[in-house]
Amino acid sequence: MTTFAELTTIGVGGPIARFIEPTTRVGVIEAIEEADAKGLPLCVIGGGSNMLVSDAPFPGVVVRDARRAITVPDEAAPVEGGDRTVHVNAEAGCNWDDFVAFTVEMGLEGVEGLSGIPGTVGASVVQNIGAYGQEVGSSVESVEVWDRKDKRTVELTPDDLRFGYRSSALKSSMYVAPATPAAEFFPTPRYVVLSVTFALRHSATGTVGYGQLAKALGVEVGDRMETRAIRNAVLKVRASKGMLEDAARYLNPAMEGTKR
Ligand SMILES: Cc1cc2nc3c(=O)[nH]c(=O)nc-3n(C[C@H](O)[C@H](O)[C@H](O)COP(=O)(O)OP(=O)(O)OC[C@H]3O[C@@H](n4cnc5c(N)ncnc54)[C@H](O)[C@@H]3O)c2cc1C
Repeated sequence: MTTFAELTTIGVGGPIARFIEPTTRVGVIEAIEEADAKGLPLCVIGGGSNMLVSDAPFPGVVVRDARRAITVPDEAAPVEGGDRTVHVNAEAGCNWDDFVAFTVEMGLEGVEGLSGIPGTVGASVVQNIGAYGQEVGSSVESVEVWDRKDKRTVELTPDDLRFGYRSSALKSSMYVAPATPAAEFFPTPRYVVLSVTFALRHSATGTVGYGQLAKALGVEVGDRMETRAIRNAVLKVRASKGMLEDAARYLNPAMEGTKR
């Protein structure tokens, strides 16, 4: 039986009655719908890096999206004039740092400062992850979600998502008031993220947006540097502060295959 201890970075949490890893979009929706229709507690989990779970048995369903594709819908379109925006779509189960590495390799600017943050693309928009002068919300074009209340898929725009400091409309949908869970949905938002479409800039350089990072790179805040150099410096600074996920975690059979 799978336990939350195997699925969370902190390594604690009790046994799970049912653990499902759907490999298709419809499979994810069906798993959520089945749990909700039966009134079972539902926990949609990503990398388990922002969760502290009780040791008590979990009597419901835990769903982990096993889809990890990244696609570039307008790859074939030439970058014209001053508009250097490139859209990239990533499925919710994609490992966050795999996504960042992909965009930097593609020569895209926008999320390089978020290198090395543990977790998945799906959860990144729930708490609007941020670090070293960047926040994911600034690069989001739209988020496709399953609305557990109205039972339909919806494409949410940044206006709908109301990103704030480590917050979003997705996160608030889990609570009726601050720190008061919405019994109907908690510990999972009303809106389950299926995929995220990012709007990134076609540029091999990015802006150094944070003092500690500028110091590590030997430049000033606001200077432009290669996104690869920014990524490498962020990974180095994070490692020096113990802010990188333990890579050995992916040797655990329950985590195997969740990171490229
Ligand atoms: C060492 C370390 C360093 C960190 N550094 C940072 C940092 O620099 N900046 C920062 O912002 N955060 C940081 N975090 C927090 C964490 O990395 C982020 O919150 C991350 O987005 C969590 O992703 P996850 O996939 O692990 O989410 P989980 O822990 O699996 O889930 C968190 C919440 O999101 C919900 N959720 C998960 N997937 C979905 C989905 N598809 N749809 C809807 N809801 C979903 C879950 O139900 C749960 O409520 C750090 C954590 C650790 C352990």
